[in-house]
Amino acid sequence: MSPTTLDTADIRRRNLSAVLSHVVEQGAASRSAIADATSLSRGAVTSLVADLVQAGLLRETEAVAAAKGRPRVLLEPAGDDLCLVTALLDADRATVVASTLSGAELRRVEHRHGRPMGDPAAIAAVLADALDELRSAVPRRVADLSIVVWAPVGGTPPVVLADTDLDWGEVDLVALLRERSQALRAFEAAGGAVQLVADSEVAAVAEHASAGHPDGMLYLKADSGIGGAVVLGAHDPLVLGAALGHQPIVPDGLPCLCGQRGCLVTVAGPDVLLAAAGLGDAAAADGLSAALAEFTARVHAAEPQAVAAWTPACAEVARAVQITALAFGPEVIVLGGFYADLAAGVDAVFRGIQPRLGGSSAVHVPRIVGSTLGADAALRGAQRDARARVTGDPLALVR
Ligand SMILES: [Zn+2]
Repeated sequence: MSPTTLDTADIRRRNLSAVLSHVVEQGAASRSAIADATSLSRGAVTSLVADLVQAGLLRETEAVAAAKGRPRVLLEPAGDDLCLVTALLDADRATVVASTLSGAELRRVEHRHGRPMGDPAAIAAVLADALDELRSAVPRRVADLSIVVWAPVGGTPPVVLADTDLDWGEVDLVALLRERSQALRAFEAAGGAVQLVADSEVAAVAEHASAGHPDGMLYLKADSGIGGAVVLGAHDPLVLGAALGHQPIVPDGLPCLCGQRGCLVTVAGPDVLLAAAGLGDAAAADGLSAALAEFTARVHAAEPQAVAAWTPACAEVARAVQITALAFGPEVIVLGGFYADLAAGVDAVFRGIQPRLGGSSAVHVPRIVGSTLGADAALRGAQRDARARVTGDPLALVR
């Protein structure tokens, strides 16, 4: 939309959003600090704050002592009757979290689904139960409901395209939940639209914030498979899901489930590495995460079989990252999942394969770091996106 087509209501909505977003993201702030941060006039901020206080989205704090001058009154997020609901469906569990507009966790419900392969209805029932249990425990109005899956998502309305961990083809998960969850039906009846999102895209959002909003980031994550995302820009970044596990990295390599040959996942995926390290049985007995934790521990302890499995895989990961990084020049490369603990080794190999065009100093080499967010990255990213949607149109919450 060009600025000339914005009417007064649009401008006011955008300004309300700027004020509320600032307080939600940065915490309690004075009117003049908000004016400075948003480039709005002090008078405009006073009027916008009045609307947001009236709508129950902001409130004034008790007067706090200032470094100099008289005590100041700050604005902080209110919205005590609202919550954001974020659900994560992974290979073992359905996790559902209610949080405040500021991101504070109110309640978490976690149910194991026992991984019934190829049975989406059984898993939808477990997730529906978790959603309804959360709604009873947190009787607030749901301002946003998003569901994160460990799989690619597409279509309108969005559906799960294929979940190899659960042996799903295309599954309309939201429709399955609609039949089973009272909480989801209530949210839709109030005019809400359920968001269905792929884990690597929302995890990338959280990792990008955690890395300090670098100008361009490549995110590569390995847990039950390998996925990732490309993040363009520093603030308000564009996040593009990327099938990095299916980069055909080895010419004429092993056939992959996707139909190509030599994909990264065929040489550096969890199953391949665990089998090569002699941990295939551990994965079956103790679960994938425990087996992968043991694998990375053995690599660090220089156990010969684990090192022999990881060394060639590490080189392929570095090469895959190099190919993608050259395409868009990210500032930072973040490795998530079990690659996080192995990031230093990948970085060492990566540094050794950089181009030397016009002398090495002419080329910016991104740093590779391991994720520090762990398993919660996707949920935290989804909460961030939910906050952005809700603060994007503040008065929609109180209509
Ligand atoms: Zn593939």
